[in-house]
Amino acid sequence: MRKAIVVGGGIGGLSAAIGLHGIGWEVTVLEQAPELTAVGAGISLWPNALRSLETLGVRLDKLQEQSSGGLHDRKGRRITRWDADAFRRHHGRPLAAIHRADLIGGLLDALPAGSVRTGAAVTDVGDLDADVIIAADGIHSGLRKQLWPRHPAPVYSGSTAFRAVTALPHPTDLSTSWDDGAEIGVIPLHDGRVYWWASYVAEAGLRHEDPKAYLRERFGGWHEPIPELIDATTPETLLHHDLYLLGTPLPSYVKGRVAFLGDAAHAMPPFLGQGGCQAIEDAVVLAAALSTTEDVDAALKNYDEQRRPRSQSVVKASIQAGKLGPQLRNPLAVAVRNSVFRLLPGALTARIGAGVSGWTPPVPRRPAPPRTR
Ligand SMILES: Cc1cc2nc3c(=O)[nH]c(=O)nc-3n(C[C@H](O)[C@H](O)[C@H](O)COP(=O)(O)OP(=O)(O)OC[C@H]3O[C@@H](n4cnc5c(N)ncnc54)[C@H](O)[C@@H]3O)c2cc1C
Repeated sequence: MRKAIVVGGGIGGLSAAIGLHGIGWEVTVLEQAPELTAVGAGISLWPNALRSLETLGVRLDKLQEQSSGGLHDRKGRRITRWDADAFRRHHGRPLAAIHRADLIGGLLDALPAGSVRTGAAVTDVGDLDADVIIAADGIHSGLRKQLWPRHPAPVYSGSTAFRAVTALPHPTDLSTSWDDGAEIGVIPLHDGRVYWWASYVAEAGLRHEDPKAYLRERFGGWHEPIPELIDATTPETLLHHDLYLLGTPLPSYVKGRVAFLGDAAHAMPPFLGQGGCQAIEDAVVLAAALSTTEDVDAALKNYDEQRRPRSQSVVKASIQAGKLGPQLRNPLAVAVRNSVFRLLPGALTARIGAGVSGWTPPVPRRPAPPRTR
């Protein structure tokens, strides 16, 4: 039986492990953390990720399909309406959201017990013995540093972000609100709570003694339910991360028998909500490539050829989405952008992103079941 070692038990690493297990490989995931905890509150999953998860055979019971929403300015004036039915027609699936803990839980359920070893930090890829090693160790990948020592480190995107999951006493819609250089997004989860995030242009590394007080001061004048959400959030659940990306694309996602995947390969800013979705795409393509040939080197070459252009174009699109959206600061440019968006019919805005999310995964070949007499 072919053997793979996956370094990193995040969304990408676990998805890769599921894909390889599905094609009959023996897989071990090595995760440095003492336990698998999902940092980052919630996550939106686009149709490309939903198709990929279906192909991998992952069932997510706690997925919340989004049904209505819109884009607003800070005063709550609508810029565009988000038409969920039109979105589904153009993208082929709904837009969904899930708590990250539920996503990690659903991925773990699709793996045989004992596949993941926690508290297992990999410091040298040379210590690992497998037919394929998957580097899924995230944006600050140690394996990337080891195998491409001169590759430039991730760079700051210019924006920082707060995230939390909060309960409100009333239901609310999916919504994104923009102001000069800032965005607040709200997305309902399956249990009635909402995942919300605030991203804004700021100096890297700037931290606040009382983050909730800072958010109240900065965003308290925005439309409801934003002040209400800030007030209802437990300070300990508030996450604050500066947003980095791999600014210089990797020349290859493969080095020898090591395949890079997810943020280790192509970390992008979250302005399209595609980083995790691309990691799941990587996983299904890797499994499909390895399922169609015994020649591992040829399969890895095939993986690289499919994934590099696709994921690097999504990185570029995410950077662009930030520049035109939450990072646009010039008040005149913001006013012009909002006026142009206001003129667009809902059916047209529902198509935005369909080029990325319309992607269809290849289907990995599963091994034939053992013959019974
Ligand atoms: C604010 C924000 C919002 C986002 N929103 C979305 C969204 O809505 N939709 C979306 O699709 N994406 C979103 N993303 C992006 C998404 O979170 C990432 O792209 C995704 O989590 C990457 O998964 P990964 O498995 O590649 O890396 P990670 O999740 O970083 O996992 C890497 C794992 O490797 C482990 N590790 C690291 N080094 C070692 C080592 N040496 N040995 C063993 N283990 C190691 C780490 O502990 C970690 O568990 C967002 C990101 C941010 C910052």
